[in-house]
Amino acid sequence: MNRRNFISLATFSPFLGGKLFGEGFSSDVGLSDIYTTKDEWSSLILAREKLTKVKKIVGYGHFNVISFDEVLKIAKDDPKVGEFSKSELEFLDKLFYDNPNKYGFYGTQTTEKITQVIEEKEIIKINYTGHYLFRGKSLDDYNRILKDVGKDIILTSGIRSVPKQMSLYLDKIYSLNGNISQASRIIAPPAYTHHSISDFDVGKKGLGGRNFSTFFTTTQEFKSLVLLDYIKIRYTENNKDGVIYEPWHIQVV
Ligand SMILES: [Zn+2]
Repeated sequence: MNRRNFISLATFSPFLGGKLFGEGFSSDVGLSDIYTTKDEWSSLILAREKLTKVKKIVGYGHFNVISFDEVLKIAKDDPKVGEFSKSELEFLDKLFYDNPNKYGFYGTQTTEKITQVIEEKEIIKINYTGHYLFRGKSLDDYNRILKDVGKDIILTSGIRSVPKQMSLYLDKIYSLNGNISQASRIIAPPAYTHHSISDFDVGKKGLGGRNFSTFFTTTQEFKSLVLLDYIKIRYTENNKDGVIYEPWHIQVV
């Protein structure tokens, strides 16, 4: 399908609008949305595959806190992955360093360099979740939430390294047929996620993917959560950052 046909179809089809992505996701295709070029699309597919392979090698947990240099080294050393090409790296660089205002994302930058390293001594793995939190305020807030909300609340996403956020961002762009703008309204670009410095997501045990939809707001856990005076939801309805409502995302300040 050529791009022009795709856009006109996307504009009129309810299946390609936000409704495809479950309750609460109201990020529709816009006429001025920016898509990957044909070459970028090829780079996206190849880089995404490599990131997925590296994740399999190092494990889901460690991938959450891995640095970009470590990813590159593993890819280069392991013939099952293969070295990232120049055009793949250029595309990832662009996604990291581009000003995302042009994609409709207006949040603040959290990570300066694509090579940002997360120090092991500053983080702690949270049992049974596969996720990590920063020691200090993030960990303290999470423990307070567990105590105040009860045993059914759980960490669903903690610290995200640059490669982790990049991998999620590429997945989203891929699932949206190369629409970078629409992806940026659903997930923060890699240099702009607060998961890399403090924030985390919580959900109700056993809900799976529904924790990342407005369904979460119907749970007793969410109702208890919003009553806590030390908790803020970062991406509220119609937030200035241009991101969809994320009732599961806890702001740590
Ligand atoms: Zn989040």
